[in-house]
Amino acid sequence: MTDTTTTTGDLCPGIDPEALRTKYRQERDRRIRPDGTGQYRRTAGEFGYYAQDPYTPRTDRAPLTDTVEVLVIGAGFGGLLTAAKLRDAGVQSLRLMDEAGDVGGTWYWNRYPGIHCDIESYLYMPLLEETGYMPQWRYAPGEEIRRHTVRIAEHYDLYRDTAFHTRATELRWDEEETHWLVRTDRGDAMRARYVVVSSGTLSQPKLPGIPGIEDFAGHTFHTSRWDYGYTGGDAEGGLDGLADKRVAVVGTGATGLQAIPKIAEDAQHLYVFQRTPSTVDVRANRPTDPEWAASLQPGWQRERMENFLEILSGEDVEEDLVGDGWTATPALQRAMITGKVDTTVDPAERERRDELADFAAMNRIRSRVDDVVEDPATAEALKPWYRYMCKRPGFSDLYLQAFNRDNVTLVDTADHGGITSMTQNAVVVGEDEYEVDCIIFATGFETGVSGVISGTLPVHGRGGTPLLQAWARGPRTLHGFTTHGFPNLFQLGTMQNANSVNFVHILSEQARHIAAMVESAHRSGALYVEPTRAAEQAWCDTIAEVAVDNSAFLAECTPGYYNGEGTRTGTSTSYAPGPVAFHRLLAAWREDSMDEVLVPAAADAPHREDPRAVPAGQGVA
Ligand code: NDP
Repeated sequence: MTDTTTTTGDLCPGIDPEALRTKYRQERDRRIRPDGTGQYRRTAGEFGYYAQDPYTPRTDRAPLTDTVEVLVIGAGFGGLLTAAKLRDAGVQSLRLMDEAGDVGGTWYWNRYPGIHCDIESYLYMPLLEETGYMPQWRYAPGEEIRRHTVRIAEHYDLYRDTAFHTRATELRWDEEETHWLVRTDRGDAMRARYVVVSSGTLSQPKLPGIPGIEDFAGHTFHTSRWDYGYTGGDAEGGLDGLADKRVAVVGTGATGLQAIPKIAEDAQHLYVFQRTPSTVDVRANRPTDPEWAASLQPGWQRERMENFLEILSGEDVEEDLVGDGWTATPALQRAMITGKVDTTVDPAERERRDELADFAAMNRIRSRVDDVVEDPATAEALKPWYRYMCKRPGFSDLYLQAFNRDNVTLVDTADHGGITSMTQNAVVVGEDEYEVDCIIFATGFETGVSGVISGTLPVHGRGGTPLLQAWARGPRTLHGFTTHGFPNLFQLGTMQNANSVNFVHILSEQARHIAAMVESAHRSGALYVEPTRAAEQAWCDTIAEVAVDNSAFLAECTPGYYNGEGTRTGTSTSYAPGPVAFHRLLAAWREDSMDEVLVPAAADAPHREDPRAVPAGQGVA
């Protein structure tokens, strides 16, 4: 495939673009399924047990009927950071609510063996200086991150009035009382003046709709609900319960990459059912150097986070403070993640250069497979044939090596669109049956599904208008946070604002912005926070004007959740100039235009006591 024709000038000798494009298309076509996203099953109804909490027992409590100043739905990083900033702004009456049994969001649910974050811990784990914590590793294990979420909750006194194992089922605005009535699956009917929704975008586990999945009589679970009672051990490994088990893992995305080497160490035999190989670049994790940590000056974390974001957003920086696999590939990431582009270069020429750089990077990643994996047929099957950002990039120094073990078998399912079927005791691919005792689904999550958008959390604004009705022709927000007709309601996420691989940085800017709006409303005595219809329309127009159409890129990609399993085209709803430009825009707006969302109380309205002084709610038993 490579080293045949040199048709690329001096840029990338040895690359044959046409041959690579043809190969990429063939590999994509092998995987496209007519049922697209319909191939998956929700972990609800008869499969609901796949989503149950295996970590914290659910306890009974009396329904809540009290009033709080701010209710934050979602206690992952988005909710925690917003709550922390609100505490900094003096808000005392604040309740965190989550379906999980504790704080942590992603890091509460995902505890599979080998779990790490592939973004540097010094950038990813927020509030390190504020909480006085230094991560032990450059790329932190999941348990260290989960404990840090607990540390944040304790530091900002966020456990005071939480409602865990609680799912909000309805938000209804009461115009007369100027508060939200919040109903939940625990029978609560509480009130909140402000509601912040930060319920995550990749949180609902999904299962492949494999015929016969319900017939399998062995043990099964999803990686985000790991059953250590069955496997033994913990996230570090030592899964001695698997010593006499034939284990199947379905899925080789970012999760599979991390879990598979650990399972391989302990299973009697491991079958890895792969449909599309991930890119597996060098990880090079290392313990934190205490001398380096001691040399850091106050403000170092913000500086490092900004530096990383600037590099990934295509901004000019003097120095790369991070120097890892992410900061080495910003131009490649531009295909999926918005940012600054060099407008002095003709777009067609820019695309030509980006594509060549992509081919070169992918050739390097493919040749790493040959360097590591001993069996040539297995190595061939592990090579990814698509452009770098068609799938979430992967990093590991253990994954490819696992396939050199005698107890690990790679089963390539690509020609069959995935696993063909399951029987009582086996996984079937084409004509071949693999008898197993246990099937572990590393098959990912439903995407972009905040309950507000999927409709599982109905929101009724002024006059009882449903939010989804107001958004019938697409989301309508000011900066992604607020919507006209839905006072004092804030949303975090990627819709109509910015995105980055270091999503916690994005969330911390969103948290800062929401807290600033609430604080301004308090300071000015505003009745509520709500954008005008005109401001909302202007932002929708801006998003549409600057939108980047990446349909062509997505259409050529191998199927996955980035392109709706090969069915999604169209433009991104993020702010195309990228997160650095977006954060600058928000800062300027806070400085100059915040008043436009502060709706004053009527002149004859009774003076409202400073709500920050309102004590916390009735507490959760
Ligand atoms: P993904 O959606 O990325 O991967 C799911 C895997 O399941 C894919 O390999 C998919 O194959 C496979 N699959 C699905 N259906 C079938 C089937 N019928 N037969 C065979 N295989 C099938 O989920 P992950 O949990 O791996 O990752 C989800 C996201 O979570 C990541 O993209 C990332 O954003 C985040 N994450 C981040 C980490 C970090 O370090 N920051 C670590 C782990 C996850 P195919 O590709 O062919 O569809």
